[in-house]
Amino acid sequence: MKRFVRDMLPDPIRFYEAEGLQLTGPGKWKTTRCPFHGGSDSMRVNSESGAFKCMACEVHGGDVLSFYMQRQSIDFLDAAEALGATVSDGAVPSPARKATLSAPAALALLQSEAWLIACTALSTAEAVKDQADRLRLIEAARTIQNIMQEAGT
Ligand SMILES: [Zn+2]
Repeated sequence: MKRFVRDMLPDPIRFYEAEGLQLTGPGKWKTTRCPFHGGSDSMRVNSESGAFKCMACEVHGGDVLSFYMQRQSIDFLDAAEALGATVSDGAVPSPARKATLSAPAALALLQSEAWLIACTALSTAEAVKDQADRLRLIEAARTIQNIMQEAGT
C-alpha cells in the first residue's frame, strides 16, 4: 500500500517545464500555453504552489498533482506515484517525524483534519465539485488514517 507525501511532489517550475511548457512573466503567476485545449497563452501557473488555471477552457487545480491527474486521466495515487511522491506503508517511518509529532500534537492535527472533513461533508455538494477540494479531502482522510495507525502501534 502506497501513501502520498505532499513534500515529495516535484518543484512546480521544473515539473511544468518537464511537461513541455514554457513559463513566462515576472510574478509568481506565470503564463503558458494550455495543453488541455491547445490555447497558446491562456494558462496561468503558480510557480510556488503549482496551482494552475486556464482562462479559456477553465481547467484548473491546486497543485502539480492535480495537473498530472487531469493530463494523464489517472487517479490520485497513480499520479502521486508517477511523480515520486509516495512511500510504501511498509517503509520505515521517518524517525524525525516520530520524534517531533508528540501525542498532543498528533491529536490536535487529527482534530483539525476531522473538522475539515466534517465541514466539507456537511456543506453542499457544491464545495466538493472542485477537484482540488476533493483531493484535499482525500488527503485529510489519509492523514487521520495514518495517525490512527501510528497510535495503534
Ligand atoms: Zn485551456
